[in-house]
Amino acid sequence: MRVSRAFSRLLCLDGIWVREVQFFADRVVVRVALRRRRLHCPLCSYSTPYRHNQQPVESVWRHLDLGIWRLELRARLRRLGCPEHGVRVESVPFARHRSGFTRDFEQLVAWLATRTDKTTITRLVRIDWDTVGRIISRVCADELDPERLENLFEIGIDEVSWKRQHNYLTLVADHIRGQIVWGTKGNDSVAANRFFSQIGKSRSHAIEVISLDMGPGYAKSAREHAPQAIIAIDPFHVVALANRALDDVRRAYWNKLRELDDPDAARRFKDARWSLLKAPDRLNDQQSRTLRRLRAAGGEVWRGYTLKEALRAIFKPGLTLEDVTILIDRFISKALRSRLGPFIRLAKTIRRHRDGILHAIRLGINQGRTEALNNKVRLITRRAYGFHSANAALALIMLTCGPITVTPPHQQ
Ligand SMILES: [Zn+2]
Repeated sequence: MRVSRAFSRLLCLDGIWVREVQFFADRVVVRVALRRRRLHCPLCSYSTPYRHNQQPVESVWRHLDLGIWRLELRARLRRLGCPEHGVRVESVPFARHRSGFTRDFEQLVAWLATRTDKTTITRLVRIDWDTVGRIISRVCADELDPERLENLFEIGIDEVSWKRQHNYLTLVADHIRGQIVWGTKGNDSVAANRFFSQIGKSRSHAIEVISLDMGPGYAKSAREHAPQAIIAIDPFHVVALANRALDDVRRAYWNKLRELDDPDAARRFKDARWSLLKAPDRLNDQQSRTLRRLRAAGGEVWRGYTLKEALRAIFKPGLTLEDVTILIDRFISKALRSRLGPFIRLAKTIRRHRDGILHAIRLGINQGRTEALNNKVRLITRRAYGFHSANAALALIMLTCGPITVTPPHQQ
């Protein structure tokens, strides 16, 4: 078999001829030519037999590795004049517009990105993390089905921080399918407005339930664009707020101890934070010991802890709407009398959103359902921390928690 034919089989790419194969110190370079005569616009379906000029455009793509060799494709492309997009370099069937990688290579990177960590991918594939980000953004834009935004009846709008220093994304979940279906930069009403304007008025008006956190931004946007929808407050957010209140109490207490110059305090409360915030059945031995010590010490930290746990218990599965109503009211009055500033504020917030919280219980937007998706999103977002663009972080979330199934290239 001739080398060019052998490589033609190896590359497994449609629509090309292999012209030449060259070995260099660190890579194999395969020169290819397009089989098709017509020139295709990279941005639309326009094609033409005429080229814009005779000058070729030397182009390079990286393809899947060949053993330990990097594999590079090179081709001389032509320019065409599209009536809509002007003079452009023709598209190729094996790579996305403006990408220096073949579709197969990008597919592999996208598949790895949904499954493994940054170090593994960048070492194995030999590209940096921001390049991974650009690749998954392209794959995501290509694979997202616009129909995912049809038939949205129960949605959740939520924010997630994808990087330190207050970089937020707004995500829209379809509660029925249990997927993230939309996302954008930012975490205010403007971000939510973008969602409603993209799906349009008639689809906005078909939404029956919107679950939210207790902040004012998303609620304002939801009331304006989907006034018919019931606003439900996700119990997940209520519990998260209680955790934050407890952390405030703990920190204040900690500072007080430090002012008293208690040398043992640091040691005794070493892992107090996690002992307090984690569910009691998930504590390790050391944390359980710390928790017992906190209980023996009593005081405000322990009072805060019992309040937080009482609130968490309200949203456990199996309680009726009547039970939850009674328990929430009991919690509010208890927290208001707690003499703990953060819990008094929490009680007032919960009282203000009482109806929304009860709607969530009545409609079965229980913690289990939203929490699973929430946890998945947060886990993935931690992996996105190294990205420099919000788009890349969003693409990783959509590929992992959205309506896209990424498969390795040989399964395509
Ligand atoms: Zn065009």
